[in-house]
Amino acid sequence: MKTHVRVLVIGGGAVGVSTLYHLTRKGWTDVALIERTELTAGSTWHAAGLLPLFNMSYTVGQLHKYSVDLYKRLPAETGQDVSFHVTGNLRLATCRERMDEYYKYCGTANTIGVPFEVITPQRVKELWPLLELGGNADTPAIVGALYHPDDGHIAPADLTMALRKGARGAGAEIYEHTEAVGIERTASGEWRVRTAKGSDIVTEHVVLATGNYARQTGRLLGLNVPAIPVEHQYIVYDESPELKAYRQRGGRELAVLRESDKSYYLREERMGWILGPYEKGAPARFADGVPEWFGRSLFPGDLDRLVPHVEAATRRVPALEHCGIKDIVNGPISYTPDGSPLIGPAWGVRNVWLNEGHSFGITAAGGAGWQLAEWIVEGEPGIDMLAVDPRRFGPYTSKRYVVKKNEETYRNVFIIHFPDEERPDARPAKTSPVYDKLSARGAVWGQRYGWERANWFAPPGVARRDEWSFRRTNYFEHVGNEARLMRERVGVIDLTPFTKHEVTGPGAESWLDRLVANKVPAKIGRMALSHALTPRGGIRSEFTITKIAEQHFYVVSAGAAERYDSDYLSKSLPADGSVALRNITNTRGCFVLAGPKSREVLAQLTDTPLDNSAFPWLTAQVIEAGLAVDVYALRVNFVGALGWELHFPIEYAHHLFDALFEAGAPHGVGMVGMRAMESLRLEKSYRMWGSDITPDYTPFEASLDRFVRLKKGPFIGHEALERQLTAGVPNRFVTLEVHEVTDADPLGNEPLFDKGGRMIGRATSGYYGHCLQKSLAIGYVHTEFVTPGTELSIEILGERKPATVLPESPYDPENLQLRT
Ligand SMILES: Cc1cc2nc3c(=O)[nH]c(=O)nc-3n(C[C@H](O)[C@H](O)[C@H](O)COP(=O)(O)OP(=O)(O)OC[C@H]3O[C@@H](n4cnc5c(N)ncnc54)[C@H](O)[C@@H]3O)c2cc1C
Repeated sequence: MKTHVRVLVIGGGAVGVSTLYHLTRKGWTDVALIERTELTAGSTWHAAGLLPLFNMSYTVGQLHKYSVDLYKRLPAETGQDVSFHVTGNLRLATCRERMDEYYKYCGTANTIGVPFEVITPQRVKELWPLLELGGNADTPAIVGALYHPDDGHIAPADLTMALRKGARGAGAEIYEHTEAVGIERTASGEWRVRTAKGSDIVTEHVVLATGNYARQTGRLLGLNVPAIPVEHQYIVYDESPELKAYRQRGGRELAVLRESDKSYYLREERMGWILGPYEKGAPARFADGVPEWFGRSLFPGDLDRLVPHVEAATRRVPALEHCGIKDIVNGPISYTPDGSPLIGPAWGVRNVWLNEGHSFGITAAGGAGWQLAEWIVEGEPGIDMLAVDPRRFGPYTSKRYVVKKNEETYRNVFIIHFPDEERPDARPAKTSPVYDKLSARGAVWGQRYGWERANWFAPPGVARRDEWSFRRTNYFEHVGNEARLMRERVGVIDLTPFTKHEVTGPGAESWLDRLVANKVPAKIGRMALSHALTPRGGIRSEFTITKIAEQHFYVVSAGAAERYDSDYLSKSLPADGSVALRNITNTRGCFVLAGPKSREVLAQLTDTPLDNSAFPWLTAQVIEAGLAVDVYALRVNFVGALGWELHFPIEYAHHLFDALFEAGAPHGVGMVGMRAMESLRLEKSYRMWGSDITPDYTPFEASLDRFVRLKKGPFIGHEALERQLTAGVPNRFVTLEVHEVTDADPLGNEPLFDKGGRMIGRATSGYYGHCLQKSLAIGYVHTEFVTPGTELSIEILGERKPATVLPESPYDPENLQLRT
């Protein structure tokens, strides 16, 4: 056994072996994998082998697409068959909302190049003759379906063996019956992995790909990994006479069938069937780790949970009635609180990588290995991986939180994924101090990064709940009122969840300056919107950097980026101790006070002059506000109005809130929620980190040129930006007015087309601009389409709508209201 390697992968399921394989494809062959028992012994051996391309996430969709393409070419490359049955995949719809979901998905699929068809019930019957189209209360009529002709099912063990063969052929080593029992830092900064055999392997990088064991392997490094398995079962049926007869008549293998509205999948297996439901009440298991006795075992089948799905499937496919049950497979399937895997760097430790939390790990293995290998070798992934980055979760993922969320995610796999859906379990968890006050004002809550955030405020007499939809729905009018309040009078948004860091010390300015593309403010009271880039020039983070005092900067970024940014900043600190970094997210609250009357309201609370000359736009001062001291007042906001972000010591939250409302009462002050903020920021073409600005796009593509100072000296991404300028910027950011919208506004991830119908870009966000009374989208197009007035079209829920490129910031393009 080798004693030193460049990368050691721990865990020999499909995901770990794929990671090893892809490292060798990147040219890193001094790599090894250890497996505690035998390859595939975790969840991989008993997976049903389905490879659904369907996924609402832009990132995960790309990973799955890569996998399916890879699995098709693996047999020729490795000489190992993987039993890939390209049967196609059929997802039924029995209601309009389900069709809306499929159409929304089609937009994403188009932008990533996944082939699909939306088909009629008649075509469903042609493809799947053994199915009943339905039309009664028990078996609702099929109204349409989504068909993926390219996917199907595979033998997970064969897939793993093909990847193993490819990896070993290139020089990688695999050691079975070798359990990792300890991981320690060496004096040289490498990792020493101790094995149960008593031998050690020293390695530069460690990859954890341990499936159901993620909790305990994470603990070896002090990581609380938010991946806890849930029971998942499927039924294996005996031979089906009807299926046999159909195949003997020359029928082709039936597509994998999913009746989403009844939460099950069905596929052929040796002239019989495999039926797999996502049931209610499936329990999370092994929250404290997999016990020693479990090994390759399964749980006993739970028929009670299966029955409703078996009944529904039998009504849809009566052939099921005539075949006996051969087996019930009930195994642990790893889950995370949002159902997406954890692929990328671990937080707080260097050169430790996670490829964990896979609930569709056979489908994802190829793509997950591909991008993780890219990340390890190149220092960054090749595509935007924010949606699966392990650091999208924070320290709030307590065991009970993860258990509840994972059980909720599991039972909701097949529900309609409404874009405005907010799931109720494990809430409220993290709340701003004024949570109860906002509830009393009608807050309808959502959750992000564990925080409760008010999406909108139901006026007296209006029910405090969402009716989720892909279209305009019950809160549309109220969100519009909040947006108008902000534009016409004055509103307050509670943005306490913002991520906040304090950077101090003699090296603070020069360190920040090398980290971001903009010039770090040199004068006290100045602020700069700044972007930290990847070495390839993509936007990894967005920071508002304010100079509070000499050698003292206040750095604010997205609330959901707390661990992501904190980890990046702390890992980038210079070793000489010249910079101190403190995450002060939970010690300061933030209220946005904005609107034409905001100055008059704030003036009642402070003696600091607020007029334009004393307190201009894009400056900051440390003020007293009411009884509160040490309030960082930043004259900036995300809604495009006169106003201040007040970042105050958290203990003043109640006082400041009451004081603002008392002072604002004569001006009609009111609360404004996240959805109105979305409408307002789109009217100003403000890009949102995570959706509009991501590592996929450089600041030039995002048309953020004014925040890039190439001449200031080196910073991360500088060379890549220079190269892009020389080669030509391929895409540019645009704002679009979408015409002929009746009730479905763009929401992001819609494809954009030129007049000839050629896809030339994608929308990254969209919403109704309540004050402009226009349906708006923002996104990226090839550069020749950026001129204002250019006519394009956008596909929204399956319909092409005309759209016109607008000048940047359609509301108040001169920023007169901000400067007033
Ligand atoms: C009933 C069922 C059906 C499923 N059907 C599908 C499907 O149709 N399609 C699909 O895409 N997914 C399906 N899945 C999910 C799929 O099985 C998993 O997502 C996938 O197998 C995860 O692979 P993995 O490599 O991450 O984990 P695993 O296969 O669990 O591998 C992890 C490995 O790590 C090893 N290990 C753990 N700790 C250590 C250590 N300390 N040292 C060394 N080795 C260690 C384990 O022994 C194990 O072999 C199904 C799951 C279940 C339960």
